[in-house]
Amino acid sequence: TMAHSKALLVLENFIGGKFVTCSSYIDSYNPSTGDVYCRVPDSGKEEVEAAVKAAKDAFPIWSSKSPLERSRILNKLADLIEHDLEAFAQAESKDQGKTITFARTVDIPRAVYNFRFFASSILHHTTECTEMATMGCVHYTSRAPVGVAGLISPWNLPLYLLTWKIAPAIACGNTVVAKPSEMTSVTAWMMCKLLEKAGVPHGVVNVVFGTGAKTGEALVCHPDVPLISFTGSTLTAQRITEKSAPHCKRLSLELGGKNPAIIFDDADLTQCIPMTLRSSFANQGEICLCTSRIFVQRGIYSEFLKRFVAEAKKWKVGNPSDPTVDVGALISEEHLEKVRSYVKKAQAEGARVLCGEGVDSLTLPAGNQKGYFMLPTVIAEVKDESCCMQEEIFGPVTCVVAFDTEEEVIKRANSVKYGLAATVWSSNVGRVHRVAQRLQAGLVWTNCWLVRDLNLPFGGMKASGIGREGAKDSYEFFTEVKTITIKH
Ligand code: NAD
Repeated sequence: TMAHSKALLVLENFIGGKFVTCSSYIDSYNPSTGDVYCRVPDSGKEEVEAAVKAAKDAFPIWSSKSPLERSRILNKLADLIEHDLEAFAQAESKDQGKTITFARTVDIPRAVYNFRFFASSILHHTTECTEMATMGCVHYTSRAPVGVAGLISPWNLPLYLLTWKIAPAIACGNTVVAKPSEMTSVTAWMMCKLLEKAGVPHGVVNVVFGTGAKTGEALVCHPDVPLISFTGSTLTAQRITEKSAPHCKRLSLELGGKNPAIIFDDADLTQCIPMTLRSSFANQGEICLCTSRIFVQRGIYSEFLKRFVAEAKKWKVGNPSDPTVDVGALISEEHLEKVRSYVKKAQAEGARVLCGEGVDSLTLPAGNQKGYFMLPTVIAEVKDESCCMQEEIFGPVTCVVAFDTEEEVIKRANSVKYGLAATVWSSNVGRVHRVAQRLQAGLVWTNCWLVRDLNLPFGGMKASGIGREGAKDSYEFFTEVKTITIKH
């Protein structure tokens, strides 16, 4: 009906400092109700072309500004987002299905911090210099922005991950064309409304909305976009690598994970259990760093399982806008079905589902009956070869298995195609060092999870990615280095 369509939120692309309507649109769902509530531009080659042109035109002026000038603008933008933190958090929760608490305490504060962090770090880089006295030469390196950066981000941490790319890209003097996930575009659009006030010149940040196959691919294939920073699935990364190969583009790929937690019998379970629940179920398990394989040493296996399952059952699933809720809705109906199908496969293979999906009943508020909800699910006695132990599920499902020795658990933890993150729990310092050194993972947390210093490298090994992001790593990715030699 007209009344219904009038109520829909309609997004527009942001190109050259202006909001521009698109010829066609995609429906976007509210995951907690199952209703279409927003229309997202279905951009194609034409829109991407216009955005790349705007970014190219803005490059000479933006790249010639001093780091301090750019830093001031990034800080201003951080302040403006922070000023609207509650509105951003509400929008992220509604669009993505995540709890309002998570959006308020993690997503939006981190988006703000991403701009502040790179506003600061860009002021402190130094380049290298060496002397070759016998030749009468000094060598030094100089770094310059690359040009138009293509930024593609996923739906799980929408504004958080998009700004983790936009901030370093523009801090370094590049201009950008960004494409958020078509399922979670609202907060990026809200941010566009603040750019002018922050002093970001027209064309420095352009956002084109749409699907991966159409909008994303047009960006990846555009000859005037020399670098692509992508966060998403390993499958999409393979496609992007193929499509960008003819242009020899520089790629940064942050991909999936199948992250182990290794819990030795000398672990402090009073810390380990609540943190491993968080690392398994936070954001509905939709974080690339979430734990999905828990290896527990035999001596504490049954005690761990008992306490872990009892605590998992206390996680409240329901309306994401209720601040007492711990688990919101999954991103889409298709994704919910996919996550559920893993639980069914595990059962068919003889594993035991100890709580959650198919075991406990889920009661939802009247307004959320058609939402994409699922209970935190713990599965035990899953075989290492099972798809539940090998593939990324990306939902509130975690597998718990027993192990005997250090040597054995390292081997089993490494026997997946992914290598993003791992956690190790033990009070033996020698052991955590030994194990951390041998785990194939870009990040190893011992006796904690998700504690990040943005200065240090972030990224995955094996099928979890190529490249690292962080203060120095992002600076290196978003700039081109030149070695200059001077002879007296
Ligand atoms: P996805 O790969 O389906 O999509 C990611 C983005 O790529 C979206 O914007 C999508 O529209 C776009 N895209 C899809 N096909 C494309 C194509 N052919 N060309 C260009 N762009 C294309 O991933 P998703 O389902 O949105 O996100 C979940 C995945 O992201 C999980 O695998 C998760 O582990 C991963 N992830 C990784 C990190 C990390 O830092 N390593 C962080 C968050 C999420």
